[in-house]
Amino acid sequence: EHMDKVMAYFEQRCQTSKQIAEHAKTVIPGGVQHNLAFNYPFALAVKEANGAHLTDVDDNRYIDFLQAGGPTLLGSNDPVVQQKVIETIQNCGPVTGLLHEYEVKLAELVCRHVPSVDMFRMLGSGTEAVMGAIRLARAYTGRKRVIKIGGAYHGWSDQMVYGMRIPGTGRHEAHGIPRSSTAFTQESFPNHLAAIRRKLMFNRLRGGTAAIIVEPLGPESGTRPVTREFNAGLRQLCDEFGALLIFDEVVSGFRVGMSGAQGYFNVTPDLTIFGKCLTGGYPMAGGIGGRKDIMMVLAGGIGASGSKRAFVGGTLSANPLSCVAGYYALEEMDKRNAAFHAGRAGDRLTAGLSDIIERLKLPYVVYNQGSVVHLQTSGVLLLNARNPIKLLKEVKPRKHMMEEMGAAYMAHGLVTLAGSRMYTSMADTDDIIDEALNRFEDVFKLV
Ligand code: PMP
Repeated sequence: EHMDKVMAYFEQRCQTSKQIAEHAKTVIPGGVQHNLAFNYPFALAVKEANGAHLTDVDDNRYIDFLQAGGPTLLGSNDPVVQQKVIETIQNCGPVTGLLHEYEVKLAELVCRHVPSVDMFRMLGSGTEAVMGAIRLARAYTGRKRVIKIGGAYHGWSDQMVYGMRIPGTGRHEAHGIPRSSTAFTQESFPNHLAAIRRKLMFNRLRGGTAAIIVEPLGPESGTRPVTREFNAGLRQLCDEFGALLIFDEVVSGFRVGMSGAQGYFNVTPDLTIFGKCLTGGYPMAGGIGGRKDIMMVLAGGIGASGSKRAFVGGTLSANPLSCVAGYYALEEMDKRNAAFHAGRAGDRLTAGLSDIIERLKLPYVVYNQGSVVHLQTSGVLLLNARNPIKLLKEVKPRKHMMEEMGAAYMAHGLVTLAGSRMYTSMADTDDIIDEALNRFEDVFKLV
């Protein structure tokens, strides 16, 4: 089999990674600590990352379309941001627990760019920000139920990981999560407003709905895209039923444009979750933004919010390094028009891949939302966007197919997210994209 040869080639040229990865397995459960890294046939160990490129510990060079899973819209390790972080660490170290000027500057910048955001609160991760926003929505509305969209990822908290399926099996990721933790989480289909209305009506008889939370590009970073009408319809439904609309813009925030997917679709949520691009790839990337009267509940019921309170915390939340990194990363993204350039690179990559797929008559599908590019080579998810879960049961892709494709790309000097998604950055020049397309074509011809 061709794929066997590719895998052998991968193994042979990544010997040092292999050694590190095997050692990792003895001290780290599963050998990898972040679930977007590919672990098949073993994880790649990185030596250098700059702009659009990665170099592994065996000195293989890659075009990097993982881009850390989305935060580095300027490209990896941007020198301007890096310099500001170095200056800050020299001045005050990583954290003091007191106020730092750049906390305020970052909050102000987010408020300026995202019209629905009057106030902003920094937290440690997208997961934490989602937890905080849901608590805030519940405290503000005095209701418990939260509706999410099937297949969406909102971090790994007990209440939100509900509904995630183990890939290829359709089974719930329920291990270690008691039913009571998810008792007030409901799931509905994307692009299906009538089903959501039914849930809202049902909930109205049982204490009401606190919030609808969505990824505005569609569940799991737009893999199953939703329409503008769907987002706008959710806004109307929330108004009608007194629920808050929460946009999870962890992926889309600043990447789709400085005002996020809400600016792109022109739909105004009550609360917005930020992460990833918020700190340009530096640690502790999470935040909640929103309307003042709602956000003030986080201040413990001062002013318009009366006695309502919602507590959030975090020893390292809003530390100077994350805030300085975020401030300059966002400034640079804005100044250099990063979303536009990265989006053009995504369009070029998608158009090129589409040509190759057509020319080679392959059963693959590629589509993008600007700098978020989806490449489906195992046919699992796409055919029924409304109910991907059902499809997972019906189609049985070859075992490890996505993993093998991912490894085949890596053997040809291309890093992707799980072999099926790519994030472009503004470091992706036309030449880099064209080189990547040659490599993709080589892989497609081989496997
Ligand atoms: N929401 C969305 C839409 C995400 O894509 C992610 C992470 N990929 C999260 C929330 C969780 O963010 P974090 O990994 O920072 O906890």
